Amino acid sequence: MASSENYYDILGVDKSASEADLKKAYRDLVKKYHPDANPDNPGAEAKFKEINEAYQVLSDSNKRAQYDRFGHEAFTSGGSAAGSGGGFGGMGGVNFDMGDIFESFFGGDIFGGGGRQGPRVHRGQDVSTTIQIKFEEAVFGAEKEISLGMMDSCETCGGSGAKAGTVAENCRHCGGTGQERVQQQTMFGTMTNVRTCSVCRGEGKVIKEPCSVCSGTGRVRKTKKIQFSIPKGIDDGMTIRQAGKGQPSERGGPAGDLLITVRVQASKEFKRDGMNLYINIPISITQAALGDEILIPTLTEPEKYSIKPGTQPGTTFIMRGKGVPNVRRQNQVGDIIATFNVVIPKELTKRQKEILQDFAKESGEEITNKKKKGIFK
Ligand SMILES: [Zn+2]
Ligand SMILES: [Zn+2]
Repeated sequence: MASSENYYDILGVDKSASEADLKKAYRDLVKKYHPDANPDNPGAEAKFKEINEAYQVLSDSNKRAQYDRFGHEAFTSGGSAAGSGGGFGGMGGVNFDMGDIFESFFGGDIFGGGGRQGPRVHRGQDVSTTIQIKFEEAVFGAEKEISLGMMDSCETCGGSGAKAGTVAENCRHCGGTGQERVQQQTMFGTMTNVRTCSVCRGEGKVIKEPCSVCSGTGRVRKTKKIQFSIPKGIDDGMTIRQAGKGQPSERGGPAGDLLITVRVQASKEFKRDGMNLYINIPISITQAALGDEILIPTLTEPEKYSIKPGTQPGTTFIMRGKGVPNVRRQNQVGDIIATFNVVIPKELTKRQKEILQDFAKESGEEITNKKKKGIFK
């Protein structure tokens, strides 16, 4: 294990690295050295553990402060086992838990960003919000508008952050490249590392006189109205991504995305399962026995349906293509599945009872509980 290498070197960041810088460096390295991605590289696992060890210390502000104060040796000497992957003891109490690492590895959006590499680009942050929509809007789609408080480009300085009449100057330290070269002595000789310019933080420009409206950030908080379409067939809990509608970038980079999670109100009539809609149709015992013509609700006009004589409770009837469109393939449409629920009357008139007793007699049935009723009278 390269115990002489300090945690900042392991993560390839400098001592002034922000939390976000650390996280980004960590994610990039984890992606690169993850054992699953390196089945043929036996050194990857040790490197992977080293990276995690470094990140566990530096991502914890208390541990990082101790580390900065007492140095690398103080952190790794106590209780450190020799060999690859050692050094998890020490005064920092670094806990190495594969579960945590795998969670942070797979739980995050490591694979989602589409490889943001190369020159440092400040992409705006993604913004998440939730919207409530009606059941019908989810089925048929809708046009929506929401208002969101967001940071937007400052109009006073045109987003440059520099006071009106002045301009941001090229960083002299890095010559406007945003990167600086650092020479390092290693066992392989002198190595040149390229890292983010410590003066301009990678932006290549330095503001001498900041804009007073935005304090040099180039951004101000504004309420923005955002229009978007709800696609037909969207389901509860789905998220609509509006590329470029998130937070604008601080200076010049692309805006983040807007992620709108949709909560769909339940329908009074239908129970939805994906593209299919389920509905219970209550029918009377006489309708079930004799048959009848009824109307079954659909998403548009109710449709006529003939109940067959002798329909049993729980009989289902499928109305093909009357359900919800597939949100991704809108020519695919689900079904309505109607289930007939035969309702037994709870209250009977004297005449209805007589008729039913006659009915029972006609069927050769003997209704014995009719005598019991006398006890309560
Ligand atoms: Zn610079
Ligand atoms: Zn400004």
